Amino acid sequence: MLILVTNDDGIHAPGLHALVDRLTALGQIMVVAPDRERSGASHSLTLHSPLRAEEIRPSAFAVDGTPTDCVNLGINGLLPRRPDLVVSGINRGGNMGDDITYSGTVAAAFEATLMGVPALAVSLDASQAVYADYGAAASYALATSRQILEHGLPADTFLNLNVPLGEPQGVRLTRQGKRRYGDMVIEKQDPRGRKYYWIGGGELGFQAEEGSDFQALAQGFASITPLHLDLTNYRSFDELGRWSLQDLNVEGPHKEGM
Ligand code: MN
Repeated sequence: MLILVTNDDGIHAPGLHALVDRLTALGQIMVVAPDRERSGASHSLTLHSPLRAEEIRPSAFAVDGTPTDCVNLGINGLLPRRPDLVVSGINRGGNMGDDITYSGTVAAAFEATLMGVPALAVSLDASQAVYADYGAAASYALATSRQILEHGLPADTFLNLNVPLGEPQGVRLTRQGKRRYGDMVIEKQDPRGRKYYWIGGGELGFQAEEGSDFQALAQGFASITPLHLDLTNYRSFDELGRWSLQDLNVEGPHKEGM
C-alpha cells in the first residue's frame, strides 16, 4: 500500500507526525504537506506562482503551497505511483458542521476524491488544549484507514473523522451539523488609535441536533461523516420548481430589469 499523508497545520505539526507513525503499519507513507501552517486555506489552488517542493526527510516533501496543492502535486508529480489512500491531518482543532467549508484539512481529502483516490480527513477537537495528545485520534485514523482499504468507499465520497480529546467512548456515523453564529467580528483599537477587526475571535456554539457530528463529540464519541462532492441541494428542487423560471430568461443586452 502507498499512502499520501498531508495536512494544513504544516509539515512540522505534531498531529502529522502522530498520524505518520501509526499509518506506517499499513504500508509505505509519503508526506507532501505545506511548509507552514495553512489552516483555513479551504480548497484554494495556487495558479499564479510556481511551487517548490523540498524533500526535508526521506519521503517527506515540504511544499510552499496549500493542502490542495500538496495533494495535486503529490499525486501528479512527486509520488512514484498513484496512492491507494490519502489521509489528511491530524488537524489541531475539530472540523465539523459549517467549519468544514473553511478547512484546508478537509479540502485535501476533497481534492483526492476529485482525483479518484480514496480519502480520509482527521481532526482532533483540541483547540483549547495547551498540549494535545494525538494518540487516540491516530488509532481511530488507523482503524478507519484499514476499513477504507478493505471495503473501498462509495463513489464520490470521503470520510471526515473527528476525535474528542481524551479517550473516546466509541465512534458514531454522523451527518454534518450546524454552528450557532453569533458576533463573529470583534472590533478593537490599536495603540495608535486605528480600528482593527478580528474574525471568529469568540467561541461559537452549535445546534444540538441528534445524529450530528457536533453532538457526537459533545457526548464523548468520535464522529465519522461521509461527505460528497456534489453540493446540489436536492431538497430545494420542489420549492424552486414553483418559481416561474421562464421569467428568468433574459434575452439580448436588455438586462436592466434583472
Ligand atoms: Mn489546521
